[in-house]
Amino acid sequence: MRLVLLGPPGSGKGTQAARLKVELGVPHISTGDMLRAAVKAGTPTGLKAKAVMDAGNLVSDDILLAMLEERLSQDDVRNGFILDGYPRNLAQADALDHLLAKIGQPLDAVVKLDVPNEVIIARCEIRFAAEHRKDDDPVVVRDRLKVYAEQTAPVADFFARRGKLQEVDGVGELDDVTARVKQVLKQESAAANG
Ligand code: AMP
Repeated sequence: MRLVLLGPPGSGKGTQAARLKVELGVPHISTGDMLRAAVKAGTPTGLKAKAVMDAGNLVSDDILLAMLEERLSQDDVRNGFILDGYPRNLAQADALDHLLAKIGQPLDAVVKLDVPNEVIIARCEIRFAAEHRKDDDPVVVRDRLKVYAEQTAPVADFFARRGKLQEVDGVGELDDVTARVKQVLKQESAAANG
């Protein structure tokens, strides 16, 4: 299963991906986690990305594509992957399309978690208190939601136009949201198998 999880920051993509990877037996690829690891390790990519991330902006497409290309060349993605945090703008959606065509691994599904902004703001406040991620600061969260609306929301339309987008209500108990996503994936693979 090759799946992209879409949704605004704080919509639960990471949490749901961590659960789904066990069920689907495929790795969870989070570009945010990869960048945070690079920042922590002090790599050249991490040094370039840190200030951009702290401000809630998008790291450059070139850096992301190189990172993703390298990750998707690893052995453990042979049976698929759950991509969380990429693509985040139309240029990245296009780049992903080309990359997956090149390696002969087209997407099976794109699932968007729908969560209203006021729920997101409340969730990020809780995560900020627990994890102290600078980009969960309430002021930065508002900027990230703006970046999402302007740059990432069109990515959902990009997949919708190809008939690939499934939307799931991301509000409620974690188990309920996971069950909704699994239901959508089941329908998707039933449709694909005719
Ligand atoms: P996330 O954990 O997915 O919310 O990502 C945290 C931060 O990492 C984002 O606010 C961006 O600064 C950066 N980031 C993650 N994925 C991408 C991406 N696909 N393109 C650009 N920046 C990204």
